[in-house]
Amino acid sequence: MTQVEVVTIGDELLLGFTVDTNAAHLARALAGIGMHIERRTTVGDDPAEIEHVVREALERSGAVITTGGLGPTSDDLTRQSIAGVFGRGMHLDEAHLAWMEERWRRRFDRPLPAANRQQAMIPDGAEKLENRHGSAPGIWLEDERGRWVAMLPGVPREMRGMLADTLLPRLVQRTTAGIVVRSTTLRTTGIGESALADQIDSMGGGPLGVSLAYLPSIAGVDLRLTVKDVPPAEADALLARAAARLRARVGQAMYGEDDADLAAVVLEACRTRKLTIAVAESCTGGLLGARLTAIPGSSDVVLGGVIAYANSVKRDLLGVREESLREHGAVSEPVVREMAAGARRVTGASVGLAITGVAGPSGGTPDKPVGTVWIAADVEGAVEARLHKLWGDRDEIRQRAAQWTMELLRQRLRA
Ligand code: AMP
Ligand code: MG
Repeated sequence: MTQVEVVTIGDELLLGFTVDTNAAHLARALAGIGMHIERRTTVGDDPAEIEHVVREALERSGAVITTGGLGPTSDDLTRQSIAGVFGRGMHLDEAHLAWMEERWRRRFDRPLPAANRQQAMIPDGAEKLENRHGSAPGIWLEDERGRWVAMLPGVPREMRGMLADTLLPRLVQRTTAGIVVRSTTLRTTGIGESALADQIDSMGGGPLGVSLAYLPSIAGVDLRLTVKDVPPAEADALLARAAARLRARVGQAMYGEDDADLAAVVLEACRTRKLTIAVAESCTGGLLGARLTAIPGSSDVVLGGVIAYANSVKRDLLGVREESLREHGAVSEPVVREMAAGARRVTGASVGLAITGVAGPSGGTPDKPVGTVWIAADVEGAVEARLHKLWGDRDEIRQRAAQWTMELLRQRLRA
């Protein structure tokens, strides 16, 4: 029993007002105990639909986890609907009612609202899953053939608590001992998804029992390797072998593994070389400084910076020459170079990083369209500048510009 289906319940999920984080959390938590989600379904607060979907899922997999619809209001219909799937009636659980009454008295100093009585109604033959984080119990319902449905609350905090406290331990006991799902992520930046795929596909040699997913984001493309249904030691060995082969292929584009942050990588590179950093930012308005200082312990590397949005600030604080601004414009190679040098001069840092560009949506011209960004890294007086044509909306362009600037420094320090 390593496969399970998940049904998340709630109109708000279908309408898109709530993002289904429960399903994602469940997938990750279940992988940790070697189970994987075979199929995921979302339904609204409609008893006939809930019953229909859960019945189908149960018939396919024999193991279903639902979230949502255990609350006290009229749109919370999960219990009754799933009791219907099992052909069971409902009864009032006196012990749970008494517990809730006590909880209200102690916590809120008032009587239990009538609506909450509904939360003590549970299907005949069900077991309660203890909820230390809220008032609705989770419910475990199993038939004579060992097919089961576990109902968890919708509120993410309660769902996660009950999963960890009660459901996962129960599932661990039922699953084939020692089978796991494990992943490793190699993080790359500065190379597109398809270029990366070309490099990797040319590697050949088959998939090695490991699946590979390409996960592009603004930070770059993450390569996620996953192994399923093997004992832990074998999983680790397979992953290590596949990761080593991938690393050899993607080489320089890779900056770290799992949840590595490029900012932390760059800071560490500076730290070991005893370099300090200052920033001069125009279109990113401090984003680069924020990325770097978000890393704990950045204060021994980052000295500070200048948000040089207006030309007057580029000129007066950073010492960008009037001539460069006039002849080449604020978004130009001479200006970005002088900004990087200026950042070093005004702070005494060994490295100056600078960004100037057109983040849009307005301000683009035919020769400098939106997305035109100049970046520069001045490392102890040696300046390298690069032109990037970035895509995306204003936010994406700004984030990519910050990421590219850190990547430029990473490349320079590697050499
Ligand atoms: P419910 O128990 O269905 O009444 O859900 C209570 C609240 O939990 C909802 O208003 C949502 O904000 C949240 N919620 C329910 N289902 C999910 C889900 N699958 N992912 C994230 N949040 C959820
Ligand atoms: Mg709901």
